[in-house]
Amino acid sequence: MNYEAVIGLEIHAELQTKSKMFCGCKVVDPTTSKPNSSVCPVCMGLPGVLPVTNKKAVEFGVKVALALSCEINLKSIFARKNYFYPDLPKGYQISQYEEPLARNGKIRIQTSQSEREIRVRRVHLEEDTGKLTHETKGTLIDLNRAGIPLLEIVSEPDIHTAEEARSYAENLRSILMYLKVSSGDMQKGVLRIEPNVSIRPAGSNEFGIRTEIKNLNSFRALERGIAFEIKRQQTLLEQGEKVAQETVGWDEERQITFAQRVKEGEEDYRYFPEPDLPPLDLNPKWIEELRNSLPELPAVKRKRFQDVYGLTEDIAGILVQEFDIANYFEAVVSSAPEIDPRQISNWITGELFSLMNETGENISNIKVSPDALTELLTLINKGTVNLTTGKLILMSMFDQGCTAMEIMDSLGLRQISDLDQITSIVLKIIKENPNQVSSYLGGKEGLFNWFFGQVMKATQGKENPDIVREVLKNNLI
Ligand code: ADP
Ligand code: ZN
Ligand code: MG
Repeated sequence: MNYEAVIGLEIHAELQTKSKMFCGCKVVDPTTSKPNSSVCPVCMGLPGVLPVTNKKAVEFGVKVALALSCEINLKSIFARKNYFYPDLPKGYQISQYEEPLARNGKIRIQTSQSEREIRVRRVHLEEDTGKLTHETKGTLIDLNRAGIPLLEIVSEPDIHTAEEARSYAENLRSILMYLKVSSGDMQKGVLRIEPNVSIRPAGSNEFGIRTEIKNLNSFRALERGIAFEIKRQQTLLEQGEKVAQETVGWDEERQITFAQRVKEGEEDYRYFPEPDLPPLDLNPKWIEELRNSLPELPAVKRKRFQDVYGLTEDIAGILVQEFDIANYFEAVVSSAPEIDPRQISNWITGELFSLMNETGENISNIKVSPDALTELLTLINKGTVNLTTGKLILMSMFDQGCTAMEIMDSLGLRQISDLDQITSIVLKIIKENPNQVSSYLGGKEGLFNWFFGQVMKATQGKENPDIVREVLKNNLI
C-alpha cells in the first residue's frame, strides 16, 4: 500500500529579551553562565511570590504573530500547565492554553517539488524550564534557563515530507532572526523543534495515530528523525500492528527514534487560568505600531532580489535566509554598481560560504568586509588578477583581514598583463621549441594548448589568459 505522511510542527523559540518572562532576572546564556547565577524567588518557584509579565516578550510575540499573518487575540490568557518534573520548580509552567496570543497564521515553504503555504494554528507565550545534568552521583539542576521567555509556534498538520518540514522550520527561523526576537541558535537549544508524525493510506482524509519527536536541535536531525519515524510506522502497519501514540526521542548517535513516554492527554495537565496574572490586554493601536515597524521579511526580500538583481530563486533564497547575509550582499552591490549582482552573489554563496563553513564563522564576524570584497571583484574584472589567483587572494583576506591590494603586492601576485613582458616570454618559448612550432604550423593544432601551458609555467599562473592567447596567436605564424 502507498502511504502519505502527515506532519505538524511545534517549535519553541527562546526570546532574546533582557530579563525573564515573569521576573527581573537577567537572561543569560545558559550554556556558558555560572549555574544558578541568574535566579530569584520567582523563577525558583518559592512560595509567596508573584509573577509580572515582561512587556518586551509580549512585544516580540506580537511581532512574530504579525509576521506570520496571524489574527492577534486582544485578550489572551495565561494558564497553568501542571506536571511534575524536577526541572520545573513551581510544579507548573505558566503557558497559554485556551486563549493564546495569536491564531491562524501561515508560513510559505519552498521545496524541490513546489512552493506553498503551511497554516500556523497558534502562537503563544510561555516560560522555559530549568536544565538538568545527570551525573553518576546524582542530578544537577541549573535554573538560569527557568523563566526565559519562550514563544511556541504550532503548525496545522499540513506538512507531508521531511523536506517540507525542514523548509517550514528554516523559514520560521529566518523570520525570528529578521525580527531580532531570537538568536535562533539551534546548537544552544534556543530553537527546538518537535515534529508530530503520522501516516495514512495515500488519498485518505483521516488522520493516523501520531508520535511526537521531542526537542530536535538541528535541521538535519529534523529531516532524519521524520524520515525514520515514517519508515518505522509504515513497517508496523505493514506487519498488521498499531502505532502507539507516544513521545519519542531522537538518538543522534544511532540515528533512530526510541520510545520515551506515553503521551499525556490534555486532562493530565489540569490546565486552569493563572490566578496571579491578569489577562493580557493588548491595545490595537500598539499592535498597528508594531505592524508598521516590521522589517522587510525574507519572502518579500527574496522576490525583490530576483526581480531587481536578476538572481535565481535558489540563490536569492540562500542569501535572504539570514538578515546579515542579505545585508552583506546588498552592501557589496551598492558599493559597486558596475559589477553584475549575480557575480557578487556567486562569490558570496560559493567561495565565501565555503571559507565560512571551514572555520565555522558567520558573516557578521568575518574579516572580509563588503568593501574589501568589492575591491577584489573589481581587480578581477579589470583583469589585474585572474580567477584562480583571485580565489587565493580571498583566502588570505579571510585569514588575515588584509585588503586584496596588500596581499597581491606582498605575494607578488599582480597579474602579468603587460603586453611586452608576455610577448618576450612567448618569443623565448617559440625560439626554444622549433620542432613543436613546425608541427603546429604543419597542422597539429592541439599543440596550441601545450604552448599555452609553457607560458603558464613560465609566469607561475599569473598571466592574463586572454592576453597570452592573443600574443601566442599573433606570434605562432
Ligand atoms: P499537543 O501535542 O500538545 O497535544 P496538538 O494536539 O495541538 O498539541 O497538536 C500538536 C501538533 O501535532 C500540531 O502541530 C498538529 O498539527 C500536529 N498533529 C495533530 N494531529 C496530528 C496527526 N494525526 N499527525 C501528525 N500531526 C498531527
Ligand atoms: Zn528570577
Ligand atoms: Mg505536542
